Amino acid sequence: MKCQAVMDLIERLAPKRLAEKWDNPGLLVGSPLQEVGKVYVCLDVSLPAAEEAIAAGADMMVAHHPMIFNGLRHVRTDLYDGRLLQLLLSHNVAVYAAHTNLDIAQGGVNDVLAAAVGLERVEGFAVTDEASGACIGRMGYLPEKMPLADFARQVKSRLGAECVRVVQGNDRQVQKVALCSGAGADFIGKAAFKGADVYLTGDVKYHDAQKAVQQGINVIDAGHFATEFPVVKVLADYLRQESREMKKTLEVVTDTVSRDYFTNL
Ligand SMILES: [Zn+2]
Repeated sequence: MKCQAVMDLIERLAPKRLAEKWDNPGLLVGSPLQEVGKVYVCLDVSLPAAEEAIAAGADMMVAHHPMIFNGLRHVRTDLYDGRLLQLLLSHNVAVYAAHTNLDIAQGGVNDVLAAAVGLERVEGFAVTDEASGACIGRMGYLPEKMPLADFARQVKSRLGAECVRVVQGNDRQVQKVALCSGAGADFIGKAAFKGADVYLTGDVKYHDAQKAVQQGINVIDAGHFATEFPVVKVLADYLRQESREMKKTLEVVTDTVSRDYFTNL
C-alpha cells in the first residue's frame, strides 16, 4: 500500500480536522508516496520503539504522540531527536501521528478507555467543536454503584497499570464516571460541574488534587501511559481489518518495548 492509503484509513477513523488547534498530527517523517508493507503502531516514537520497528521490517510508524511538536531548530545526530530522525530516514521509515484527533474520534483513545474500565451509556464530556459537537473525554456509568476503592482496583487491573493514585473528594459510592485519557487534570472542575462521582485521568499534580477535594469530586490518576496505551492494540486491529477488507497486503505489528516511564518502588 502507499503510505497515503494508510493515512487515509487512519483519517477515516480520526479525521485531522478533529484535532485541537495547537496540535501537530499527520505525516511527520517520510512521503505519502512511499510504499508501506508493514506498519508499527505505538504510543511514542522513541529510539527503542524505532529500533523495534526497524528490526520488525516496518516501513511506517503510527504513533499517538507527535514526535515533532514544537518545531525543529536543528537535526543534530549527537542528540536524541536528531539520532532518532537519522535512524528513521536511513531506514526509509515514515512516521504518522494521530493525537488529539484520535482522542476525540468516535472509537478513539477515550472510547477505548471508557470500554476498558467498564463504562456503559458513554457520551461526550468536553466539547471541542460547537458546530460538530465533537468532544474530548467521555462520561458514562458503571453498571452498578461501587465503593471508590473497588473502582480504582478495577481500573488498575483492566488497564494493567502498576499503580493508581486516588484522591478522595467525597465518601459516596461511584457510578457516574467522567474520564480523559493522558493529561486531563484541567477538566477536574468540569467533571465536578457535570455531576460525575469520579474523574479518571493521568498526570494529576498536587494542586489538581487539592482542587478536586475542594470541589468534592473523587479523582483516579491511572497514569498517562496506562490510560492511553490500550488504543495501540485497537488502532492496530482497525488497520489490519480495514486493509484486509480492501484486499491490500498490509502487515501490522504493535509496540512491545514501551513501558510507563514511571516505576513505583
Ligand atoms: Zn498522551
